[in-house]
Amino acid sequence: MGPFTDKPLAESDPQIARLIAGENRLEHDKIRLIASENYASRAVMEATGSVLANKYSEGYAHKRYYEGQQVIDEVEELAISRLKALFGAEHVNVQPYSGSPANLAVYFAFCAPGDTIMGLALPAGGHLTHGHSVSITGKYFKSVQYGVRKTDHRIDLDEVRDLARQHRPKLLWCGTTAYPRTLDFPAFRAIADEVGALLVADMAHIAGLVCGGAHPSPVGIADVVTSTTHKTFRGPRGGMIFCKAAHASAIDKAVFPGLQGGPHNHVTAGIAVAACEAARPEFKAYARGVVENAKALASALAERGFGVVTGGTDNHLMLVDVTSRGLTGKQLAQALDKAGLVLNYNSVPFDPRKPFDPSGVRIGTPAVTSRGMGTDVMLRIAEWMDRVAKDAGSEDNLAKVAREVKEVCAKYPAPGLRVE
Ligand SMILES: *Cc1c(COP(=O)(O)O)cnc(C)c1O
Repeated sequence: MGPFTDKPLAESDPQIARLIAGENRLEHDKIRLIASENYASRAVMEATGSVLANKYSEGYAHKRYYEGQQVIDEVEELAISRLKALFGAEHVNVQPYSGSPANLAVYFAFCAPGDTIMGLALPAGGHLTHGHSVSITGKYFKSVQYGVRKTDHRIDLDEVRDLARQHRPKLLWCGTTAYPRTLDFPAFRAIADEVGALLVADMAHIAGLVCGGAHPSPVGIADVVTSTTHKTFRGPRGGMIFCKAAHASAIDKAVFPGLQGGPHNHVTAGIAVAACEAARPEFKAYARGVVENAKALASALAERGFGVVTGGTDNHLMLVDVTSRGLTGKQLAQALDKAGLVLNYNSVPFDPRKPFDPSGVRIGTPAVTSRGMGTDVMLRIAEWMDRVAKDAGSEDNLAKVAREVKEVCAKYPAPGLRVE
């Protein structure tokens, strides 16, 4: 075997092996409520950890710059055909390294530096890559940002229309990262048509809900649809772009050679596996369960005096203003982590506090639903959060909740984990 031994990781690099075991333990013992996270299946993990990572294959199937693509072409074609069928798309590109590069490819396909683009502002629930000032998308393009209404914290389509008429953007982005309500894709389509903009829907968070039938699909409505593959979709970390046939060549050229080199073929295989899993009937039940759990958790939290933004949720996540509990979002998030409940602090709309210590937290149910936890566990989560918020400074209180959380977690083994 040449100059190298080929030992298992635990022997070859015990330090990293120990750290990975530690992460397995954390993901098993804690309740993971970060809205963008999930548990990928063992099958997805196996494909992603495969020899396909060794292969270079710049280009697209049957038009590669390197030889030896007998297997890789089939892998990529299979991923594409499964995703086309699953989402009803005319064209799919599975090569983006993640959600952010997928979005950047869309800018590169259609815009020149300095062009006007429009997206939902980050503090209103939008993503950095939709034109935020610190992002390349806000620095290299003229970014116009829309928000949510002061009265009900929902996307203000009147404002979107007014701003679009005034600025006539080349791209109109719709898609969210911290927004608990259904997106009205046909309404965005009408605005884009009125001003001659291309409509780009970013379904990074909700792709799994979309193909599971728990959120309306933007595919066929938006000109281009981007997504991650690792959030509600439960695939490996990656990105994908769907578009109408008319834009296929512009998108493909923008991804490669415009933005990237060789595709991550091991990830492509993982995406193909995730697409296969998402086509099964149990995935529809999963998507429904994610939303049911989120609704149950949101109403249980509201009953306990937490400030649920917009009063509830239609999707997999909720935003909760915790100032009514005498805490900042960061204080609560840090106390909850000690109590075995992992989430992220998050700005709420019109937040008077700074983003690094905002008024709220974001809570998502994709990961807990992947473990098979149902609404009964959601009620316990609300109760635990209530107990933590009542006495966030007491280590005893937090340790007691953590023990109860661990006991419940032991009953719900998570997909893809290896816990000794
Ligand atoms: C998560 C997310 C992205 C970025 O995905 P990465 O894989 O983290 O780069 C893009 N858009 C939206 C709306 C997201 O929620």
